[in-house]
Amino acid sequence: MSGKPDMDLLPTPPMGERYNGVPERLSKEAAAVRTRLYGNRTLPKSKPRSRPARLPPGVSEDVFAASIEELRRSIGTENVVVNDQPLQDGWYLESPNTHDAFHVIEQEELVCSAVVYPGSTEEVQIVVKWANKHLMPIYPISIGRNVGYGGAAPRIPGGVVIDLGQRMHSVVNLDGENASCIVEPGVTYFALYEEIQKRGLPLWIHCPDLGGGSVLGNAIDRGVGYTPAGDHFANHCGMEIVLPNGELLRTGMGALPGKDGRDNSTWQSFQNAYGPKIDGIFSQSNFGIVTKMGFWLLHDMPHQSYCITFERDKDFAQIVDTIKPLAQKGILGNIPQLRHIIQELNVTGQRKSTFHTGSGPMTREKIRQAAKGLPLGDCSWIFYGTQYGDSASIERQLDIIKKAFSSIPGNRFWLPKDVPEDHYLHSRVQVCSGVPILRELDWLNWLPNAAHLFFSPIAPTRGKDAQAIHEIVTAGHKKYGFDLFPTLCIAGREIHYIANVIFDRADAEQKKRAVALLRELIHDCAKEGFGQYRTHLLFQDQVARTYSWNDQALLRVNESIKDALDPNGILAPGRCGIWPKRFRGKGWELGVEDVDMKAIAPKL
Ligand code: ADP
Repeated sequence: MSGKPDMDLLPTPPMGERYNGVPERLSKEAAAVRTRLYGNRTLPKSKPRSRPARLPPGVSEDVFAASIEELRRSIGTENVVVNDQPLQDGWYLESPNTHDAFHVIEQEELVCSAVVYPGSTEEVQIVVKWANKHLMPIYPISIGRNVGYGGAAPRIPGGVVIDLGQRMHSVVNLDGENASCIVEPGVTYFALYEEIQKRGLPLWIHCPDLGGGSVLGNAIDRGVGYTPAGDHFANHCGMEIVLPNGELLRTGMGALPGKDGRDNSTWQSFQNAYGPKIDGIFSQSNFGIVTKMGFWLLHDMPHQSYCITFERDKDFAQIVDTIKPLAQKGILGNIPQLRHIIQELNVTGQRKSTFHTGSGPMTREKIRQAAKGLPLGDCSWIFYGTQYGDSASIERQLDIIKKAFSSIPGNRFWLPKDVPEDHYLHSRVQVCSGVPILRELDWLNWLPNAAHLFFSPIAPTRGKDAQAIHEIVTAGHKKYGFDLFPTLCIAGREIHYIANVIFDRADAEQKKRAVALLRELIHDCAKEGFGQYRTHLLFQDQVARTYSWNDQALLRVNESIKDALDPNGILAPGRCGIWPKRFRGKGWELGVEDVDMKAIAPKL
């Protein structure tokens, strides 16, 4: 939260001090990452606010002040903080809960009016009832490190952020026998991992590339990890939810009262209740505030990470077509990644200027030259995989995989022992066996004041479709002058094609180009039938409306559910493109033409 002492002068809080702090084993690395990132910052760490603090739309200063006082009386003065201090972007592990640290528009645009810290499910209910009484737009976050997708920002400037993690961060249950857990919103991957180690349980979590996010928050935003159980939402089991009217709901077997008033003993064993399975409507939505969530964990097992390099860019489609049957037959142990060689450059943590001094994106030739000095050498695509099982089965799987790729000229197989200790392959070993780390922050050194947006379309796992997306994305990056950093997460039937658009937060013109690029790519991909799996807050209207089959049937159903559950339209209006009746059609929706983002909030 801004307004605190100068964060730069204090060490990053350790986990023992702060629920979302850095684990001891990573403290040195975190300090080094922070030094590198701050060393590449030309922006001041904060600047005075240029205008009065934002208020929720249609709420006068007096009414706002009185309602804040009322909430303070209910949940404690210290738990309701007005956001009137200079904004600080910080860095990943000291990220703000007041705004989007990776602002792609002006920093002061997407900001909250206040941050509220409930300490229990009951207090969340109190906040929700308060919001209904005063028609306050409230935006729940768990940790708020949803970097690349909007961070902690509310969609409506002046909305009230509910920071659930700060006071609700218990591992409520960790059941070694059932290999499952229940967590509150503020439990990070780091924290869950450390708790499992502390108790000596031979279990794995399923962390994404960075370990500081919320286990619960990531799952309901449908993020992914890289163990064999990396689909976070698919591996959840039971939720507790405060509905927009303040009522409490449990899904799955939790809906059936347990014996003698206890939680149902099969809550984390069976995902369904009786009747429609409604858990899904609480993911990527604004239909409820999740206060507890159950997850299945995996048993520790032997694993082997490796990578295969390919020489020629033009073999891309063939590589994808080779992965497909391996994935469908279950020979590939997890969701592997296919990355372009330029990713090898930026994951070294070095600045772009080390490799390239001119303006504009690096040419293929420049990338080639720079790659020659790196451990994997001058290649094009790199396949990062991990196999699981006993050593005999891993060996057998690797034989099949090597044979499948053998028809692609110039392929080379690498084990971790073949590359230096600081090579990215060693980071894959950790992430793919459930050890949360920070490595993926390294590519943020690419530009000064670097931030990024994710462009993340889904394609069928088919060479020609992957090629089609890749061509659209390549042309867009060229047109708008950005380096293209593609990572493909390839399953048997679909690919998450993830492009990191890295931009300089200090450069307004570059930010505008990044927005224009995203708008155009979303539009052009949708025309070819490729939709986004997830997107930044400011592109959610546009993306939701690309799923337009039968005159926006999907959006209309979502809006009907929204109006039924949230008639006052208080809960996260606009999140995932779903606007409640109170705001709908009144100029809030942003579309393909909103490149300058001047109208993120209409004049009321
Ligand atoms: P992380 O830090 O893991 O990336 P966030 O806390 O930023 O996760 O959450 C991602 C998004 O999911 C938020 O922007 C918010 O819209 C939504 N969200 C997070 N936690 C909750 C929750 N407990 N209930 C409802 N929505 C939530």
